[in-house]
Amino acid sequence: MRRDAIAHMSAVNLLDFDLDALAAWCAGLGEKRFRAQQLFRWIHQKGERDFGRMSDLARTLREQLVQHAEVRALQPMSERRSADGTVKWLFDVGGGNAIETVFIPEDDRGTLCISSQAGCAVGCRFCSTGHQGFSRNLTTGEIIGQLWHAEHALRRQLGLAAGERAITNVVMMGMGEPLQNYAALVPALRMMLDDHGYGLSRRRVTVSTSGMVSMIERLRDDCPVALAVSLHAANDALRDELVPLNRKHRLADLMRACHHYLERAPRDFITFEYCMLDGVNDSDAHAREVIELVAGRGPAAAPGLRIPCKINLIPFNPFPQSGLRRSPDARVQAFARVLQAAGLVTTVRKTRGDDIDAACGQLAGEVRDRTQVRVRLQRRREAEPLAAPVAAVAQAAQGAAR
Ligand code: SF4
Repeated sequence: MRRDAIAHMSAVNLLDFDLDALAAWCAGLGEKRFRAQQLFRWIHQKGERDFGRMSDLARTLREQLVQHAEVRALQPMSERRSADGTVKWLFDVGGGNAIETVFIPEDDRGTLCISSQAGCAVGCRFCSTGHQGFSRNLTTGEIIGQLWHAEHALRRQLGLAAGERAITNVVMMGMGEPLQNYAALVPALRMMLDDHGYGLSRRRVTVSTSGMVSMIERLRDDCPVALAVSLHAANDALRDELVPLNRKHRLADLMRACHHYLERAPRDFITFEYCMLDGVNDSDAHAREVIELVAGRGPAAAPGLRIPCKINLIPFNPFPQSGLRRSPDARVQAFARVLQAAGLVTTVRKTRGDDIDAACGQLAGEVRDRTQVRVRLQRRREAEPLAAPVAAVAQAAQGAAR
């Protein structure tokens, strides 16, 4: 890109650029790649937004940056801190939409749970975000902006020394289906992995999907990080009800995609998430279906394909519109024992941050309610009965596939 062409552009958000994109943009200013690396480190490693303070950049470059670029951070609407150390931010992303980001500290790690969309089109029965409908995809800058804000805010709050990291792991498990926002997701993942950025290993970055088979294949080729799959049922009839995406992406195809993904995955297993719903999917018989599915046996399986995996059982966080109940603890433990007896590594997710709110998506849902988005959504659903969520999913998938 020529210098005079750049002069006519409005300020770009440098958070939208992974290192290759930033190098290409800097080349348009007549700068070499190592300058882009310096700039990238200032932004992501030091959390600096003020180009004037980037002391090892030439004055002429700093002036160009002031003229043409900005580091457009997310605007926090609230920051809530739990007694157990969990921190939850609510960010305003405009148009009456808000997204949530959660930091979960543990003894040996600090995990950030990041959102990929404002709302979600998949519409899982047990998910508060799914009940709010879909507003829009987040940009790359809005995805990485959650990590940028959290990392540098936590470093300040915790008084960490230069070079010390607050966040050691990232899970793309917040609001939205990340693989429906593929074009924005992949550059953000690359920034997380980049040694000039956050330097996280591929094992410490997890994408969680409700099961978009074709996009799992693409992620395997483009940026194979750890993979988690929202399973929630091991037969197609029940999964059709709980995860509507299953009507398009059947379990056998999903198991094939998981098996194929493991050829490139940084870990030698897939994590299957299983939300425990009282009287719906939590019997011993359901547990045995899971065992059959991942062993490559039974009617829903990909015949003969065993999937090395870990099962993460998630206690359901009830919310008023769901009509569902959390499985009793004793039932969750009994379900876990059936899986463990068959040799499956099974964990029960600890609930964290109960005192700052309940289910993921609830805070953002309150913001949306205040802006009457729910009313608009209801009107749209009435105008486009039944097929609307599925159509939105298909549309988003096509958009991502382009
Ligand atoms: S569980 Fe995930 S994919 Fe399903 S509706 Fe919620 S945010 Fe979307």
